[in-house]
Amino acid sequence: MELQSTRQASGALASRRVIVTGGARGLGADFVEKLAADGAQVVFGDVLHDEGRRLAERLGANVHFVALDLADAASIDVFVQAAAQRMGGVDALVNNAAITNSGGRLADELSLETWDAVMNVNVRGTWRMCVAALPHLRESACASIVNIASDTAIWGAPRLLAYVASKGAVIAMTRSLAREFGAHGITVNAVAPGLTEVEATAYVPAERHAHYRQGRAISRSQVAGDVTGPVLFLLSDAARFVTGQVLPVNGGFVMN
Ligand code: NAD
Repeated sequence: MELQSTRQASGALASRRVIVTGGARGLGADFVEKLAADGAQVVFGDVLHDEGRRLAERLGANVHFVALDLADAASIDVFVQAAAQRMGGVDALVNNAAITNSGGRLADELSLETWDAVMNVNVRGTWRMCVAALPHLRESACASIVNIASDTAIWGAPRLLAYVASKGAVIAMTRSLAREFGAHGITVNAVAPGLTEVEATAYVPAERHAHYRQGRAISRSQVAGDVTGPVLFLLSDAARFVTGQVLPVNGGFVMN
């Protein structure tokens, strides 16, 4: 399945200039790797500098890592400028980075610090990335943004309130930005993955993974490649008239 979905988009993104946030590991690293395999130029950012540099080295000349901290508005501007300069412009942005490890507490146990940190990175960071990329995307004939949301914001996962609220905001921003940026021919969509087996979810108890598997129409574990195919599709010319949409990718665990 994984190979098939990637192969469908093969070559569709050749020479496309793509920015990916949070690309040093997990889903983001899979996006970076498959974009590069498809012929795209990629600049990705992350707070994990060593992992980022190692991945860029492994993937070769069309992939570059630039340090990025979404909690810092100035870092976002510097990152986007560096990316645009290196690639000679920007055609696409994948807003993937997020604080993903804030779960476990009930709403009345959550600290103000956790709430603010999650909102700052996941919501404010996504907004500022879109704004920083806009002047470059406006110059592109095939501009697109894909925001990585989460299906937890659709079905309302408990013990995850700050994260769920932040991903609900990402979905709402996707719709609003699609209308604003549509004037410039830029598509803005969101992909909402279900629980995926990556480093960040290794802490999730086995029973919870089993609960997800059983609840899916396609009853198996979800892997990064399940999400990458739909992201690449939304960046491709095949999806030029798709905008403001939220695509759950979860084997049918929740259906929109
Ligand atoms: P992850 O934690 O491995 O990935 C997030 C990446 O963002 C990491 O590389 C991290 O270092 C980076 N990051 C965090 N804070 C940052 C900051 N301030 N500035 C720059 N980079 C920062 O988790 P993942 O599972 O690969 O998640 C990727 C995306 O997919 C996230 O948006 C997450 O919410 C979403 N998602 C994941 C799942 C899942 O089950 N894995 C499910 C639904 C949605």
